[in-house]
Amino acid sequence: MSSKHAFRGVIAIDGPSGSGKSSVTRRLAADLGAGCLDTGAMYRAATLAVLRSGVSMADKPTMSKVVETAKLEFGTTPNDRYTRLDGNNVDAEIRGDEVTSHVSVVSSVPQVRKHLIAMQRQIIADASDGIVVEGRDIGEVVAPDADMKVYLTADATARAHRRSAQVGAELEATAKDIERRDTADAQTTRPLDAAPGAIVVDTTHLDLDQVLTALHELIAHRETP
Ligand code: C5P
Repeated sequence: MSSKHAFRGVIAIDGPSGSGKSSVTRRLAADLGAGCLDTGAMYRAATLAVLRSGVSMADKPTMSKVVETAKLEFGTTPNDRYTRLDGNNVDAEIRGDEVTSHVSVVSSVPQVRKHLIAMQRQIIADASDGIVVEGRDIGEVVAPDADMKVYLTADATARAHRRSAQVGAELEATAKDIERRDTADAQTTRPLDAAPGAIVVDTTHLDLDQVLTALHELIAHRETP
């Protein structure tokens, strides 16, 4: 699709699991002709590298080394985004139960975050057509100078419904998993808080098209003060 706006900047989309970040990020980037980056996929791929290495989840220095030396690649074209580890596509595997249940531990290691944040900043710097970046700490830590910051949120029930539909898991188990990860992630990022200057969009009662319409209006409004 051609760009709806001549917007070539950096858009940070933060929010907890099930807030609609991934779908919104991909569609918005495609609309704008920009790139997109899923930083959750980066932490998930790092976690898969650690799991495959057999290193203990308690051995933080060795875990960091595994992540630093892993061959991680991330495609940022909205209709062709991919996550590769050692040359192979791992998009399905990184969303499985094993990675999901260990990712909060790996993402809590400061050296792992430092390494991945440096990669994220480099990908953002290289994005000549602009980029929409989704995560938990984008507006606050990774790209505090982003041109637009959005915080997507939704009530816990709506988030659990969305997530269970996405991953095909049972609702109650999904709700528990989301709660566990929100609590664990709150040690390192602030999944339940908006970054300073972020526009909060509550998606509880909005579908994807409605969220996108709201974001396009915000972008258009930005451009014509
Ligand atoms: O967004 P997603 O659910 O794929 O994120 C997976 C995990 O990666 C989160 O639960 C969190 O532990 C970590 N994460 C993070 N910082 C980000 C994005 C994700 O710590 N910017």
